[in-house]
Amino acid sequence: MQLAVRIVATCIGLAALSVAQAATTVLTNFTLIDGTGRAPVPDSSLIVENGHISWVGPHSSLKAPSGATVMNLSGKFVIPGLIDNHVHLGLVHDLTQDIKFYSRELVEQQLRTYAAYGITAVQVLGTDTDVIFGIRADQRKAQSDFARVYTSGQGLVFKTSYGGVAGLNKPVANVTEARRAVDEQVAKGVDFIKLWVDDEFGDLPSRMPPDISKAIIDQAHKHGLHAIAHIFYLENAKTLASQGVDGFAHSVRDAPVDQALLDDMKRHDIVQLAATLSREASFTYTKLPFLDDPFFNRAITPGALATLKSQERQQKLAAGKHFAQYPGVLDMALANTRREIEAGVRYGVGSDSGPSGRFSGHFLHWELELMVQAGVTPLQALTAATGTNAKLIGAKDLGTIEAGKTADLVVLDANPAADIRNTRTIHAVYVAGKSVPTIWSVCTGRAASECKGGSKGGAHGER
Ligand SMILES: [Zn+2]
Repeated sequence: MQLAVRIVATCIGLAALSVAQAATTVLTNFTLIDGTGRAPVPDSSLIVENGHISWVGPHSSLKAPSGATVMNLSGKFVIPGLIDNHVHLGLVHDLTQDIKFYSRELVEQQLRTYAAYGITAVQVLGTDTDVIFGIRADQRKAQSDFARVYTSGQGLVFKTSYGGVAGLNKPVANVTEARRAVDEQVAKGVDFIKLWVDDEFGDLPSRMPPDISKAIIDQAHKHGLHAIAHIFYLENAKTLASQGVDGFAHSVRDAPVDQALLDDMKRHDIVQLAATLSREASFTYTKLPFLDDPFFNRAITPGALATLKSQERQQKLAAGKHFAQYPGVLDMALANTRREIEAGVRYGVGSDSGPSGRFSGHFLHWELELMVQAGVTPLQALTAATGTNAKLIGAKDLGTIEAGKTADLVVLDANPAADIRNTRTIHAVYVAGKSVPTIWSVCTGRAASECKGGSKGGAHGER
C-alpha cells in the first residue's frame, strides 16, 4: 500500500463524514455481500471514485490510488444500499395522515429517514403529487444525499372501489377514462403504472372490473411500462395474470395460491414485487412489539411514541371492524409467500410503509425478518432487497456491488447472512459514495439532546 494513503479511524461518525468530500475512497478488509446472491466474500476491498464503484475484489489485489482516503473496515460487512420497492411518501406527520401534508420538504425528510436506515432507493406505489417529479429530476441530475425515488405518480383506482389515498389517486369509471389516465401518467414521466383491484373485505361496493384492468395493463405496455397491481383476492390475481400484469404489490391474502396461478406467474415472469408482510403483521397488534427498541423509536417523536403506547389507541385498534381477521390474513400472506418462493416465482421486497402507523425505514428491516420467517435464507432476503429489487424497479446502476455501479453502500457491524436482524447494526451508509447520517448517528424524530443512548441491537441486542 502506498505511503500517500491516509488511514482513517472508522469508529466514529465524524471520521466518516470527513471522508465524504474526498473524490476517491477506498474501503478495505470487509466481508463483501454483493447483492447478486453470491456467498459472502471475506477480506474484500473496493474503490469508490466520483460516486461509482471503480473496482471491487480481494484485498490482496487492491491497488489504492495515491491520495485516496482509506477506511479500514476490518470485521465489518458491506452490502449494497437496501431498496424498498413499495412505499408511500408525504402522507403523515407523526401518526396523523392527511394529503395536505404532502410537500417537497416532508418527502425529502422521509427520504432522509430511509437513507438513515440503510435504504438508499424507494419506489412509490401510486400516491404521489406532481412534486415528486421535481425531486426525482433533481436527484438524477446531481448526486443525492438521501434515498433515490422511483414513482408511479397517481395510481389508477375504479370509482367506488378500494385504492390508495383519496386525492392522490386517479379514479376511473370506464375503459376510455382508464386509457386516458394511463396516458396522462406516462406524459408526466412515471416509472411504471399502479392499479388497485380490491374492495376492502367487501366493505366497498365493487372491485375494478376486468375490462378496465385489461385496458390499463395494455395501455401501460403500449408505452413500454410495467403495470403493477394491488391485489387481495386469489380470483383477481388470476384474472390479472391472464391479462399480462407484470407484478403484484401484495400477497394473495384470501386463499392459498393454486398451481394454475403459480404456473402462470412462472411462465410469464409475473413477479411477487412485495409480500408486504410487515404491513399485515402491523395490523395484528394493538401495541407494536418494538416500541422500546431504539432502532425503531429513534425515528419517532416522543409525542407519537406516547400515542403508540396509550391505552386509548390500543382500545381503538382492538375495536376495529376487521381486527379479528388480521392474524389470518398475515398467516395466509406468509404461507402464500412460501408457496411462491418454493415454486420458483421471482420476488422482491417491499414494506408498504408510509401510511399512518407503518413506519418508513424500520418496516423494511421487519419485512426482511418476516421474509426469512416465510422461508427464505437471510442471504436470499438480502439479494431480493438489493440486486433483485434494483432489477424490478428498473435501476440498472443500483443493487449490486460491482465495478461501474453507483456506490450506494451500507456498512454493518455484524453478519446479516448469519442473522437477518443484523441489517440493523448499521455502521455507515453511503449514497453515491458520500457518507450520510445513520439512524445510530442521528435521531430523525427528535432533538439530539433527547436522543442519547440506545444500543445497536441486531442479533445480539434487544429483541
Ligand atoms: Zn401501498
